[in-house]
Amino acid sequence: MNAIGQPAVAVIGGGPAGLMAAEVLRAADIEVDLYDAKASVGRKFLIAGKGGLNLTHGEDLEHFAKRYRPQHPVDVWLKRFDASALREWARGLGIETFVGSSGHVFPDDQKAAPLLRGWVRRLREQGVRFHMQHRCVGLADSQQTRLATPDGEHSVKSDAAVFALGGGSWPVLGSDGAWVQWLRDAGVGVDPLRPSNCGFELDWSPHFIERHAGDPIKPVALALREDGHWRWQRGELIASEYGLEGGLIYALSAPLREALGDDGTEIRIDLCPMLGVSEVEKRLRGTPRKRSLSERLRRGLGLSGVRAALLREPTSFADASTDPQLSALIKSLPLRVNSTRPLAEAISSAGGVCFNAVDEHLMLKQRPGLFCAGEMLDWEAPTGGYLLTACFASGVVAAEGVLDWLRRNA
Ligand SMILES: Cc1cc2nc3c(=O)[nH]c(=O)nc-3n(C[C@H](O)[C@H](O)[C@H](O)COP(=O)(O)OP(=O)(O)OC[C@H]3O[C@@H](n4cnc5c(N)ncnc54)[C@H](O)[C@@H]3O)c2cc1C
Repeated sequence: MNAIGQPAVAVIGGGPAGLMAAEVLRAADIEVDLYDAKASVGRKFLIAGKGGLNLTHGEDLEHFAKRYRPQHPVDVWLKRFDASALREWARGLGIETFVGSSGHVFPDDQKAAPLLRGWVRRLREQGVRFHMQHRCVGLADSQQTRLATPDGEHSVKSDAAVFALGGGSWPVLGSDGAWVQWLRDAGVGVDPLRPSNCGFELDWSPHFIERHAGDPIKPVALALREDGHWRWQRGELIASEYGLEGGLIYALSAPLREALGDDGTEIRIDLCPMLGVSEVEKRLRGTPRKRSLSERLRRGLGLSGVRAALLREPTSFADASTDPQLSALIKSLPLRVNSTRPLAEAISSAGGVCFNAVDEHLMLKQRPGLFCAGEMLDWEAPTGGYLLTACFASGVVAAEGVLDWLRRNA
C-alpha cells in the first residue's frame, strides 16, 4: 500500500506482456512499479519489428486458438483479449494496422518502434514508474522480490507482483531464462525452456554448403511422420550452413522437435509440390536420356540450383537409376534431421511455468499474490502474430487476476 492506502503492484519484465499488465493495473488506479533488467523496455519487441512487426493475425478466433500448444488455456485468454482487441488497442495509440495477403496483421508502417515509444510515453503519463537495470534475482518472503540494481541488491515488497520475464531466446535482449532456477527453488513447476520456431541441424555435404548455404528453397513441401502417415505442408525453406531454417520448418518446429530421438528423425521433402508423382515421371520420360541428369531435371521439371542439389544429398540418390525411382525421390526426398539449433537462436521458447502451477488468473499456486504472463508460461505457437497476441492477452488476464485478488484480500 502507498501512503494513501492504494495497493501497489510490482511488474517485473517490460516486454509486451509486462507493459500490458502495467497498463491494465494503472487504469484501475493501482500504483505500478515496473522493473526491467535492461536499460530500456521492449527490446525483443523492437527486434520483432525489424523485418515487419507481425502484431497478430486476421483469421477467426476458432482457427486462431488452434495455433497454440496447448490450446487451453490460451483460448480463454483470447476470449478476453483477441486480435481485434489488439488492433483496437494499437489504434488507441495512433497506430493503424492492415491485414496482409496471408492474413498477417501489421502496423501500417510495419515498425515496432513508434508503437513502443508511444506506449511507454502514455504509461509514464498515466503514472507507471519505470525502474531500469533492476534485475530480479529471486523471491524473498511473502510478496517480496529480490532485485539486483546498480546500487546493490534490494528486497521490494508490494501487495502483488506480475512476472513477465519472457522465454530464453535471444538472451542478449534481456529474457535469458535465469528465472527458471529461482522459481523452481521456490517450488514452482517449470518445464525446461526449449527452442521453438527454430532452425534444425542436418548433415550437408561440404559441396552443398559451399554452393547453396543461404539459398531459399521454394516452392517446396515438407512432411513429418504422424501416426504412421507423412503429413505434408507447403511453404518456403532456406538452406543454411547448419541445416534448414525458414517459415515452413519454424511452423513445424514443435512436432519436429518432439520427434527427435537420440539419432534424430527423418523428414521428407517434396521438390515439385505442384506436380503429382505420375506427372513428374511423365515429364522426366519426355526428356532425352542422353542428356545429363541436371539437364533433364531442369528441362523437364524446372528443378535447378538448390532444389536439384538437395536431390543428391541423401545416400538413396545413388540407387535411383530409373525414372520411377527418381520421381519417387523428387516427390519424397528423405532427409535426416539431427537436432534443433540452440534456444538462444530461436524466435521463441517452448516450456516455462507449468499451467498446473498457476490458477486460471495466472497466479502461482505456491505463491499467492504472484502472477505470471507472456512467453514465460508453458505454451508455444508458430510465428504469424500468434506469439505477441498471447503475450498481450496473458498480460491482461494476469493484471485482471491481480485486481480480483487485491479486492478479495482488501
Ligand atoms: C527475431 C524475433 C522476431 C520476432 N517476431 C515476432 C513477430 O513478428 N510476431 C510475433 O507475434 N512475435 C514475434 N517474436 C516473438 C515476440 O517478440 C515474443 O514472443 C514476445 O516479445 C514475448 O513477450 P514477453 O513480454 O513475454 O517477453 P519479452 O518480450 O522477452 O520481455 C521480457 C522482459 O523481461 C525482462 N527480464 C527478463 N528477466 C528479467 C529479470 N530477471 N529481472 C528483470 N527483468 C527481466 C527482459 O529484459 C525483457 O524486457 C519475435 C521474436 C524474435 C526473437
